[in-house]
Amino acid sequence: MLKRLEIAGFKSFARKTVLDFSSSVTSVVGPNGSGKSNVAEAFRFALGEQSMKSMRGKRSEDLIWSGSNIAPRANRAAVTIVFDNTKRIFPQLEFDEVAIERAVFRDGASEYAINGSKTRLRDVQELLASANIGETGHHIISQGEADRILSSAPKERRSMLEDALGLKVFEFKKQEAERKLERTEENVQQVEALRREIAPHIRFLAKQVERLDRAEELAKELRALCQTYFAIEEAYLRIERTATEEKLRIVSESLAVLEAELRTFEERVTVDVEGIKRSEAVRSCEKELDRLTGERSELAREIGRVEGALNEAKRRSVAVAHDPYVKVSRDDMTALRDEVESQVRAVEHADHGALHAALQTLRTAITAFFERYVSGSDDFMPEEEQVAHELAAKHLELMRKDTEFSESVAKARELLRNAREATMAYEETGREQNRRLLDLAEEKATAESERSRLASRMGELDYLYEDLEQGKREAVALVGVNALSYDAVQALPNEDRRAQEDRKRTMERLKIRVEEAGGSGEDVRSEYKEATDREAFLASELEDLAKSAAGLKELIAELDTELQKSFAEGLQKVNASFGEFFSLMFGGGGARLVLEEFAAPDEEDEEFEEDAQPKRAKNAKPGIEISVNLPKKRVQALMQLSGGERALTSIALIFAMSQVNPPPFLILDETDAALDEANSRRYGDMIENLSSKSQLIVITHNRETMSRAGILYGVTMGADGISKLLSVKFEEAVSVAK
Ligand code: ATP
Repeated sequence: MLKRLEIAGFKSFARKTVLDFSSSVTSVVGPNGSGKSNVAEAFRFALGEQSMKSMRGKRSEDLIWSGSNIAPRANRAAVTIVFDNTKRIFPQLEFDEVAIERAVFRDGASEYAINGSKTRLRDVQELLASANIGETGHHIISQGEADRILSSAPKERRSMLEDALGLKVFEFKKQEAERKLERTEENVQQVEALRREIAPHIRFLAKQVERLDRAEELAKELRALCQTYFAIEEAYLRIERTATEEKLRIVSESLAVLEAELRTFEERVTVDVEGIKRSEAVRSCEKELDRLTGERSELAREIGRVEGALNEAKRRSVAVAHDPYVKVSRDDMTALRDEVESQVRAVEHADHGALHAALQTLRTAITAFFERYVSGSDDFMPEEEQVAHELAAKHLELMRKDTEFSESVAKARELLRNAREATMAYEETGREQNRRLLDLAEEKATAESERSRLASRMGELDYLYEDLEQGKREAVALVGVNALSYDAVQALPNEDRRAQEDRKRTMERLKIRVEEAGGSGEDVRSEYKEATDREAFLASELEDLAKSAAGLKELIAELDTELQKSFAEGLQKVNASFGEFFSLMFGGGGARLVLEEFAAPDEEDEEFEEDAQPKRAKNAKPGIEISVNLPKKRVQALMQLSGGERALTSIALIFAMSQVNPPPFLILDETDAALDEANSRRYGDMIENLSSKSQLIVITHNRETMSRAGILYGVTMGADGISKLLSVKFEEAVSVAK
């Protein structure tokens, strides 16, 4: 329901002018050029009209009071339409009054406000659409525009009809949904691009993590093996050491006994100068022999140690030879690369001969490199073999020393025996005693060599112990302290010592592999987790987007169906009304709106136009044609109607559309100008009829029309060029209108 129109600075309404619409039919009358049409345009303006042409202007400035000899020009044109909203014709606004205001400034800027709050044009349009006040202006029929709906193109006509049927709300919703869908699809593409971008990185990280997992498996295996090995080795060394020490103790004891017995022999020698000399010779020989055997025992321990290390080094070098990997010296690699590069550079612009020579050189270099590492030529020795080599040399040296010692010992024994024999001969002691002394010396030599062997064994055990400690340190560095968490073993397993040695070999190989697998890789794991989390996030986002896209598509389809259905129903109703009004105005005949028919594509053309745009877009909607059938006449083309007939036809159509979906108000600017007296009466009847559903504002010079109005406004313009408004009675109106 219209309540008021407030105009200020708009066109000829320089001063604030208020029109009240408390009656269902309001008539605006006045002489030509007084500003009546400006009132209708004020409505258009406030409702957001964007076409300057439909407000008879070129620029926004044309809408602002331009001044006259008396009143200066205004800088701002403002129009407010106030609606009664007690019946909530704007359902979304909880106010009893709704004021829609628009102002325009000389720089062309427009401002919109709803109940004093600034808003966007779009909000105003949506608000109006919700109350069936559409934008095509079917409810404002400007002067001379009554037959706009007759003269416009079928497409435009359809748009007006859709607007009149209140379908714009659906149209807005559909556009909104389509915009959202477009944005959603853009997002989908962006997310998909992101996923494509990170996919190779994830694949790379996954491989890394897989490698880490394998390394961890190896480490676990190594840890278990270490635990078994260390436990057994510790027990072995403990048991062996105790046994060897015990044997050493026994040998030392029996040596002490033998020495004591030998000494008593010597003490029994007669105390004479010659005797003393001889027994002193024996003693000095004995001392020398003791010194030599003591030193040799020391040497034996050292030999044992070196032998232990040597055996280990040999084992290792065998393990390395069985390993599929070859350690390559950095220098050799660099040399090979340099050689390849320099040859390639040399032959870049070379002839056939030089090329051949270069290839020959390269082949030699690569063969040499290969042989050095893979075929194991003599001039190259891996680290382990180098160590074994050195130890073997040392061992050889020690053995040579040992041989020297054994010669010295033999010599010392010989000297001792001679000294003893000399003593015995001098003493002329019996043969028995003589034999006993020789046996004692023999026994002592055997005990001494046993002690030397045991010392060597102790040396070997020392070495194995050091090696075990070293192995533990390495294991801890590689797989952590857990390598040492095992229970001590009391009894050795029932197996050959070689089983333990095999275990050690396997352990060494595993160590190499674990070392190569390298690092804990916590960084890689956390990076992998981050990347997969992100991937999962993107996937779920994509899923959400797909869901919302599907929802939007469904909504669009629903709106389409709704639109189609409402349009078809509306068209039917408008047609029924249109025919009725038409025959009422013309005293017979009929008229109807028909959907435009698209020309079927030419069969022959098709072959040549395969790539051409289809003639009709997939979702194009047919436009609307008007078919008329005048009583007693054969005329059917709109073109052939007279001016009055056109006016009658368009009035019938406008009224029919208003009837089916009544707009809150309808402004008719001299729509009745072309009507004769009889038709003016029918027009007046229809106005009264329509006013029961829509508020009517009729700008008119027609006496008959004025007579149907509840309120009459007269518009006048004086010498100052300012339109003035006055309320008039019907009797006055007729004279004001002139
Ligand atoms: P008719 O009965 O002949 O249709 P009308 O009453 O509808 O006449 P309008 O067309 O509304 O008259 O008014 C036109 C008048 O408005 C002209 O006198 C014109 O000079 C004046 N006018 C239009 N724009 C402005 C403006 N920006 N500033 C001042 N006056 C203006």
